[in-house]
Amino acid sequence: MDIGGNSLPSGADTSKRKVCYFYDPEVGNYYYGQTHPMKPQRMRMTHALLAHYGLLQHMHVLKPNPAREKDLCRFHADDYVSFLRRITPNNQHENLIQLKRFNVGEDCPVFDGLYSFCQTYAGGSIGGAVKLNHGHCDIAVNWAGGLHHAKKCEASGFCYVNDIVLAILELLKFHERVLYVDIDIHHGDGVEEAFYITDRVMTVSFHKFGDYFPGTGDIRDIGFGKGKCYALNVPLDDGIDDESYQSLFKPIMSKVMEVYRPGAVVLQCGADSLSGDRLGCFNISVKGHAECVRFMRSFNVPLLLLGGGGYTIRNVASCWCYETGVALGIEVDDQVPEHEYIEYFGPDYSLHVAPSNMENKNSCEMLDEIRARLLDNLSRLQHAPSVQFQEQPPDTEIPEADEDEDDNKDERKDPDHDVNVDYERECTLGRLKMEVVECEAKDKDSTLPRETVDVPHTEVEQENPQEQPEMDQIPL
Ligand SMILES: [Zn+2]
Repeated sequence: MDIGGNSLPSGADTSKRKVCYFYDPEVGNYYYGQTHPMKPQRMRMTHALLAHYGLLQHMHVLKPNPAREKDLCRFHADDYVSFLRRITPNNQHENLIQLKRFNVGEDCPVFDGLYSFCQTYAGGSIGGAVKLNHGHCDIAVNWAGGLHHAKKCEASGFCYVNDIVLAILELLKFHERVLYVDIDIHHGDGVEEAFYITDRVMTVSFHKFGDYFPGTGDIRDIGFGKGKCYALNVPLDDGIDDESYQSLFKPIMSKVMEVYRPGAVVLQCGADSLSGDRLGCFNISVKGHAECVRFMRSFNVPLLLLGGGGYTIRNVASCWCYETGVALGIEVDDQVPEHEYIEYFGPDYSLHVAPSNMENKNSCEMLDEIRARLLDNLSRLQHAPSVQFQEQPPDTEIPEADEDEDDNKDERKDPDHDVNVDYERECTLGRLKMEVVECEAKDKDSTLPRETVDVPHTEVEQENPQEQPEMDQIPL
C-alpha cells in the first residue's frame, strides 16, 4: 500500500531539519539493579554511537536543565513528588506504606539518585518542548525520556514521572492540538489516561494486546466526553513484522494528520518493539522501526522524539542512533565504528540486526479489520477541534539577570506565571478526570548555573531556560 507522507503542504522529506539533542552525561550512571532489565547505560551507548558516527556535530547538543519539583507537579501529585525526592535505598524500609501506595519497590525500585534521574529525563523532554515552542529547532530528541507508564500519583512499568505528559503540557501552551504517537511494544497508558477526556491531545498507541503489560489499550477504548474519538488504540499480536506494521502505521497516521492537523507531534520510540528484545515479542527491524520516525518527520510539523522501553541494549542503541540519523536526514552506515562499546556489536558489528523467523500471528484479515475500524473512527472526525486559547501566549521573555542572549551563555529564567493544572480523580469509567483550574502566579525561581561538559566532537550546552508564557489557564 502506497500512502504518501506529505499530507500537509511542506518541504521534501529529504530536506534538512534543525535538530536539538538532549543528553546528560550522568544519565548512564543510574542503575536500577543487577537483575533489572531497564539499563540507563543504553543512553550512554546510544550517545557513543552518535559521537563515533559523527552525528553530534550536525545537531545542537544540550544538557537538560533538571526538572524542578514545581515542573513535575504540573502533572504529578505533590505528595508523590515529595516522596520521590526523599526516598533512598537507606530509608525505604521505614516507608513501607508509602512504597506500596506509590507502587515503588518492585518493577520500579528505589535506587541511588532516583530523583535526580527523574529530574534529568523529564528535564530533557520539557526542554525539548520549549525548544520546539520557540522555533529553535524542527526536531527535538531526548532518548532518556518516553517513560509512558507513570501515573499522576504512582510509578508503573519502570517509569516514575511521566516526562511525556509534562512535555505535552508544555507544548499545549503554544499549540492548540498536540498529537502523541507511541510505538513502544507496551500500551502508552499513562499518557492516554492523562489526556483521555480532552480533544486537545490525540493519543495513538501501537502495542501488543492480550495478556501483556499493562493490560490496557483495547481497540474499543477511544476516549471519553470531549475526548471521545481522540484516543486510538492499535492492538497487535506476537511476531508482527515490518510490512504488517507499516500496513497499519502509515494509513492510520496519514488519516490522523489529515483530520487532526496537530501543531506538534510527540513520538515515543520505545525500542522494545524491535525483534530480539529481551522483554518484547514483535519482529520489527531497526529500519522498520525507524520508518515510523521517517514518516512522522515527513509531515514537517514540530517533532519531539523520545525513547521509552528497550531491553536488548545493543539493539536499543543501534535503533536510536539510526533514528537520530533519520531525524537529521543522514543515512547511517551499517558498519558500527570502533568505539568503547564495540564488543556489544560482535560478531558481525553491524547496526542492523536481521529479524527472526518467528511466526507472525497477525493475519491479513485481522490487520484489515483493525485498519478499517480505526479509519472509520477517524472519518467521523470531520474537523480538527477549534481554537480554545483565551489569549495568545506572549513571546519568550528575556532573562532579566543575564542580558546575554547567546545560547551558549544562557541562564535559566523562571516563568512569572506558572500554570497549575490540577488533575482530579473521579469515577468516570474508571478513568482519570482532568480538571484545569485557574492558577495563581507562582514564585519566581533563581537562575541555575550554566554547565558545559566535554563530549566527543561537539559541546553539550546547558539548555535554554524553560520560559513559560503568561496564560490564565490552559484549557484542555
Ligand atoms: Zn515498553
